[in-house]
Amino acid sequence: MTSLFQDIEFLKGVGKARGEKYRKLNITTPFELLYHIPRKYLDYRCHIPISQTEINEYSVLKLTVTDKLPSLRINGGMTVYKAAATDGFDSILIVFYNNMYAFNALSENDTYYMYGKITGNFVRREISAPQFVRSSENVLIQPIYHLTAGLSANMVRKNIRQAVEIMHAFPFETLPQYVIESYSLCTLNFALTNIHFPESIEASQSARRRLAFDELLYLQLGMSMLKSNHRLRTGCIMNSKIASVQDFFGSLPFELTDAQKNAVSDVVSDLCREVPMNRLLQGDVGCGKTVVAAAACWFAAKNGMQSALMAPTEILASQHFETISRFLEPFGMKTALLTGSMSAKVKKSIKDDIASGEVCVIIGTHAIIQKDIDYKCLALVITDEQHRFGVAQRAALAQKGNFPHKLVMSATPIPRTLALMIYGDLDISAINQLPKGRKPVATYAVTGKMRSRAFNYVRKIIGEGRQAYIVCPMIDDSQSELLAVKSYAENASEELLHGCSLGILHGKMSSAEKDSVMNDFKDGKIQALVCTTVVEVGVDVPNAAVIVIENADRFGLSQLHQLRGRVGRGIWESSCILITDNPSEECRKRMKIMCRISDGFKISEEDLKLRGPGDFFGNRQHGLPPLKIADSACDMELMEQTKLCAADILKKDPTLSLAEHRSLKIETLRMFSDNIVS
Ligand code: ADP
Ligand code: MG
Repeated sequence: MTSLFQDIEFLKGVGKARGEKYRKLNITTPFELLYHIPRKYLDYRCHIPISQTEINEYSVLKLTVTDKLPSLRINGGMTVYKAAATDGFDSILIVFYNNMYAFNALSENDTYYMYGKITGNFVRREISAPQFVRSSENVLIQPIYHLTAGLSANMVRKNIRQAVEIMHAFPFETLPQYVIESYSLCTLNFALTNIHFPESIEASQSARRRLAFDELLYLQLGMSMLKSNHRLRTGCIMNSKIASVQDFFGSLPFELTDAQKNAVSDVVSDLCREVPMNRLLQGDVGCGKTVVAAAACWFAAKNGMQSALMAPTEILASQHFETISRFLEPFGMKTALLTGSMSAKVKKSIKDDIASGEVCVIIGTHAIIQKDIDYKCLALVITDEQHRFGVAQRAALAQKGNFPHKLVMSATPIPRTLALMIYGDLDISAINQLPKGRKPVATYAVTGKMRSRAFNYVRKIIGEGRQAYIVCPMIDDSQSELLAVKSYAENASEELLHGCSLGILHGKMSSAEKDSVMNDFKDGKIQALVCTTVVEVGVDVPNAAVIVIENADRFGLSQLHQLRGRVGRGIWESSCILITDNPSEECRKRMKIMCRISDGFKISEEDLKLRGPGDFFGNRQHGLPPLKIADSACDMELMEQTKLCAADILKKDPTLSLAEHRSLKIETLRMFSDNIVS
């Protein structure tokens, strides 16, 4: 084996069968094996005396083998090997099952560092199937890897050791010297050696920093290059002299917040430029993003151009349609709603109006990006709650028209670091201010025992003329969503919400049914809406002043915050009651965060810490390459540094064509190769 890029099978001691096992871990070459980063390290120097061990815990001990005992065959053909050992004060039994190889490696009177699970009782302790090294050896910090059946920790370590040796015979480096120096990084070979076999904890830390830096730098480079790809000429340059958004502001029933005004002016100035806008409008629930979108549509219409607004659900699309058409009607601008569930005939007539330019704002679900829809002059494309859309849908919409401007609205307040990663290719306008007079939603977490008291309160609020959401318990797969909501609503109407008019809403209903329920709720005909998380995004009924969330522990913090955002949208004091019987410490922590924090940004940061970025959106729809080493929650500083570094590099060499940037380009392309990013 002389190359890091040969098949992993050719590594000594691997062969076909183990090669397959490695493939399961997505490792096909020794090079990829080098990037199989340890999960953590075992530090044999942190050993404790036997007397301090706890049953069922993993511990590191320093033991001298006193007596190797005869092996014992037990039921089922298993052979048990035992050896007596001491730490100088107490004694313990070392036990191996079927592992003669490990047992034979122990010598009487020799001293070892051992790591394993402690079993037994107060009188007699055992350490079972420990990993160990001789105390005379100087490798006292051992890497622990993710394994798969059939690959032992020792085997993996041995193979990685071989890969490291090959690397030392053919050293390589991906970063130009000037980057290594200005960010005080270690060399790549040092990093790849010490991430696996650290000379010291400090060495493993600087190795990790270097590898995380690489990863984030490729990410930033890739994102910036994508961003510059977007810098085409749009066919829809607008003119700020044609209309002043002040006229639009003046027609509104409320005064915009400064943050909203700033966002509108960012958008309008983008619309007047030659490069297509590519902007993220980010803001906590209830901050008023819709009116900003409406202002953009208004400005486009004044310029004689069409806008399309795409929402993830029909409920949301029809709500936006109502709101936006109300804003635009006074100006004689026509708005159309187009959803998948409309009849072919209705669709046809709307499509005609779109093609003729009769309507200037088209609102809908993904129906508005179907191939058969021709826009007369589509200039602005807005997507709401964008993380719900697949990358492909975003891209399809962008291809309509003549390089239209794009505005993406997100109600999930994304921590800055993650926004940098996911939307590195977008400009950002943040609305960091709520409309005047909003009061934070008082939030309480209670157990099921308090349910009837909680509902007494809900009935009282309803009695005062307000309305309520009851988010139904999440259900097992065995039960249908429909059943759960129905039976819950039935029980509730008999007991908890006796005397109130109830409606139910869930994802399995047809859109016509959903619309009619939502309309009844908006009109106040329904006092309490028993629903699933279909109300999670965007729904806006300002008279709703209380939301009860059953089984609150089953939701992520950001999702709870979204749900809570359904109330507190008007002038009323509002509250959110979280019900959970989950006694775990983790759940307690989450509920406490919800009760204490009302700022969505802070909550999403906490959420990110608790769940990690992979889970943040519940899926990988954002099209971001997965990070193996860097951690978006903890590596904020590194993220900022790599952003600067990427900007520097691209300023010098926008296409990464210089010889010193060759490897950078290869690695960046490699990172993005499996991921289409629109
Ligand atoms: P979100 O940002 O969550 O999408 P919406 O756009 O749905 O928020 O706005 C929430 C509610 O606040 C709506 O009822 C909207 O009419 C109202 N609203 C928006 N901006 C203001 C403002 N500046 N002053 C008062 N109410 C506002
Ligand atoms: Mg919204």
